[in-house]
Amino acid sequence: MSGEPRLSLGRPYRRAQPDAVRATDADALLSRLSACRAGYLPPDAYADMLRGHAEAPHRPPIINIGTYLRASEVDAHVQHFIETGACGHPYTPAPRVQIVSLGAGSDTRFWRLRHARLARYVELDFPSTTSQKAAAIHAHPTLRHALEDARVTADGLVSSPYVLLGIDIRTLPHGTWQRVATYLDPALPTLLLCECVLAYMDIEVANAALRACLATLPCASILSYDMCISSDTPHAAPTRFGQVMLQNLAARQLTLPGARGCTSTAAYVERFQHLAGSASHLECHAYTLRESWHQLESEERRRVSMLERLDEVEELEMLLSHYCIAWIDRAIVQ
Ligand code: SAH
Repeated sequence: MSGEPRLSLGRPYRRAQPDAVRATDADALLSRLSACRAGYLPPDAYADMLRGHAEAPHRPPIINIGTYLRASEVDAHVQHFIETGACGHPYTPAPRVQIVSLGAGSDTRFWRLRHARLARYVELDFPSTTSQKAAAIHAHPTLRHALEDARVTADGLVSSPYVLLGIDIRTLPHGTWQRVATYLDPALPTLLLCECVLAYMDIEVANAALRACLATLPCASILSYDMCISSDTPHAAPTRFGQVMLQNLAARQLTLPGARGCTSTAAYVERFQHLAGSASHLECHAYTLRESWHQLESEERRRVSMLERLDEVEELEMLLSHYCIAWIDRAIVQ
């Protein structure tokens, strides 16, 4: 291990710089395309459709593997939620479910995982990002025709299966959640999907946003993928690797207030349980991508390891141990 984490699986943003914010999304999309092209993930025609003219450079093997694990884990959880209405054991039989993706960027999950049980898929991001995505959807016949009843409103792009809203997540507790809630059925199990977004916001600000969502959704789950700079060490200070990550980012005048405030898998569990409240039925788990890597079926792990020459095994393990999946199922029992 060189001690210098040269690369990260998601970039931070400076609040003052909308371009830097948008860049985090472009980074996620291009990483996905790189992992698809190199054979880690199946081809994603929708990502190509949303890419516009951006060139998709080839990423190093450890980033491709990280992207593969991130995408496979989040996809598996979302698929399970669509089929059962929960991230863990199903508890409320419901014929249909809905998903709200906070900071969705150019994510293609709605298009890839469309399912009859999915009543609605709502995506939120900054208006500059959602208007670009809406334009890309409109420009591409396959995407446009898939949303037959799509119309552009003051809120964004609205159709019966899919809604794309330009909203700053930090404003959700201050009135904008009501706008989102008009597109949701509070009786249905709802997944709040936060993939690479919580780390970019102050903990209290992000928690207030999540609380605003939970307040109108008696049966909801939160699924997060993000950095954990102390890895799986409970309540510890950032590891040396985590510190170097932060230093590298600070040198570029980039901060990650959410990553600094929620540093370990245990911290995610504690945070989500606190958000869910004690009066609710819940199941909550967090684990690092390193754990998912070790739990992959041996044949699949061999396939992924052999796609490209992988010299930096130790750096891969270190990188994977600083990103985690965390989820909670919460249902208010009347
Ligand atoms: N979830 C997507 C994109 C991750 S990049 C994926 O995993 O592929 C982070 C995204 O969060 C960016 O699109 C950025 O614009 C969005 N984002 C960050 N802070 C936000 C905020 N306060 N309000 C709305 N969107 C935000």
